[in-house]
Amino acid sequence: MQFIDLAAQYQHLKDKIDARIQAVLDHGHYIMGPEVQELEQQLSDYVGVKHTISCANGTDALTLALMVLDVKEGDAVFCPTFTFFATAETIAFEGATPVFVDSDEDTFNICPADLEKRIEATLAEGKLQPKAIIAVDLFGLPADYPALRQIADKYGLKIIEDAAQGFGGEINGQRAGSFGDIATTSFFPAKPLGCYGDGGALFTDNDDYAALLRSYRVHGKGKDKYDNVRIGMNSRLDTIQAAVLLEKLAAFPQELINRNKAAQKYTAELKDTYKTPVVPQGYVSSWAQYTLTSAERDADMAKYKAQGIPTMVYYGTCMHQQTAFKALGYQEGDFPVAERLASSVFSLPMHGYL
Ligand SMILES: *Cc1c(COP(=O)(O)O)cnc(C)c1O
Repeated sequence: MQFIDLAAQYQHLKDKIDARIQAVLDHGHYIMGPEVQELEQQLSDYVGVKHTISCANGTDALTLALMVLDVKEGDAVFCPTFTFFATAETIAFEGATPVFVDSDEDTFNICPADLEKRIEATLAEGKLQPKAIIAVDLFGLPADYPALRQIADKYGLKIIEDAAQGFGGEINGQRAGSFGDIATTSFFPAKPLGCYGDGGALFTDNDDYAALLRSYRVHGKGKDKYDNVRIGMNSRLDTIQAAVLLEKLAAFPQELINRNKAAQKYTAELKDTYKTPVVPQGYVSSWAQYTLTSAERDADMAKYKAQGIPTMVYYGTCMHQQTAFKALGYQEGDFPVAERLASSVFSLPMHGYL
């Protein structure tokens, strides 16, 4: 069996996706064609935000969000240490300093109490200007935005929601992608909503942010791409990928139901053997990963492998343990929960056609 069976999904949607791709080949608007606009409108409707701005990948989406918030050298941006590298990488790429935060024991998401401690410590040290929080909807479960918003307001910080894994998640009926001042997502093939290459998007209700994002993603364009009013990037979603995503988005609600059924079944069968995932009251996960913790991870993974069941470790190394962030000076023991997770988590196969 496959860990994420993209071939099964393609077989299910083949006729529709093939027709959508053929339509792009026929009209020939490969860059910013009509499918891109159509997709942005549908994503705004689904997420429940005013603006969707598509871009080339989830990493660029984070970079674009940080550009809009004018994050730069001397700024502190707080993010979980237990996440994918891009969350922290983009902060450093903009010249700012990532300040890492420990995880919540049960949800694996950024711990609000530890966040406040790290903000206070950064203020007390007085070297960096606290600017923003990047919260990650890890493994599909939205972070604790009610608590994060209180902290952000108290210290005058902006929230970027990294919903690369969270697309489809909810808190009390409100969808992931709508919790940050700006939210980002990724359409990397293995994400809950993926295309057939790289892709990404940003979500916001803020008209000024949206206008800036539309400029930044096309070389800082003014009235057109040959009128350049600021330094930007080249970060657009290909029309063919938008065409694929239009069909995948149509199938997404049913896939989300299937993922949740699979997760419920896993939990029913495994809850006496492992610590199974916690979904707080009122939350919905999009189950980007179904992740267990085990003190005998290697032996457990070998046992599943022997039965033809692939497993993966997300993530075996925290950000503060990465070679690239060595200069930040963190030490083993600085993030006890995240470090324990990194040495004990493993994920089971999960997709909409399991
Ligand atoms: C995948 C991912 C990204 C980056 O997305 P890409 O499209 O691969 O650039 C960022 N943050 C998180 C949490 C991710 O899982």
